[in-house]
Amino acid sequence: MSTDEPKTDAQWRAELSPEQYRVLREHGTERAFTGKYWDHHANGEYRCAACGAPLFSSSAKFDSGTGWPSFYEAVDAQAVRERTDNSHGMLRTEALCSRCNSHLGHVFPDGPPPTGLRYCINSASLSFHPRD
Ligand code: FE
Repeated sequence: MSTDEPKTDAQWRAELSPEQYRVLREHGTERAFTGKYWDHHANGEYRCAACGAPLFSSSAKFDSGTGWPSFYEAVDAQAVRERTDNSHGMLRTEALCSRCNSHLGHVFPDGPPPTGLRYCINSASLSFHPRD
């Protein structure tokens, strides 16, 4: 899947809130326990807040205790792109939207079964859509 930037920086600034822009486009992190989805338990789909691509299902969400929405898998293998992140003196795996290349959060190898992965995602990067 292409990871070309689909919009200009000016377009992202115009369309996103300041907090969304800081997280999605500047690889920021929201403060723990402050986002709108860390304690959110409804059934539905979490989509990219920047481009609307489906990213995570509520069925893969679990309570990690971290204060960020956490999932053990993405909706499909192509939805989330991973890359090495050496920033802040840590070696981490960054999670990005495959469609628009926006920053979502990080992936850690300490999640629950069946994958053992923990996608630690900023609420600011997500838009929830209930399933009926
Ligand atoms: Fe996206």
